Amino acid sequence: MEQFVSNKDNVKEKDNEYLDWLEKNPKGFVVNNDPKQRKAYLILHHSTCYTINKSEKNKDKKWMEKYMKTCSNDLGELQAYFKKLFGGDLHKCSKCYR
Ligand SMILES: [Zn+2]
Repeated sequence: MEQFVSNKDNVKEKDNEYLDWLEKNPKGFVVNNDPKQRKAYLILHHSTCYTINKSEKNKDKKWMEKYMKTCSNDLGELQAYFKKLFGGDLHKCSKCYR
């Protein structure tokens, strides 16, 4: 499992690390989460989901500006990690989990 989180000074750098991970792990899973670790923002995506991966629509997006990303190829690992933190299940993205 890898976590990508920026401070205000290294958003671009962390964005690149994150996008690199997506590229290398096309079958992976990504949890978009709030750096303050609030439960309301936990959403589970596939690596290829257009809302969390680069596409025409969001090519200039700063991914790490507001949210952090927790990534893994092992869905069970992600689920267990967040269950331990928050005691609940992850919400699946309505775009890539249809
Ligand atoms: Zn998604």
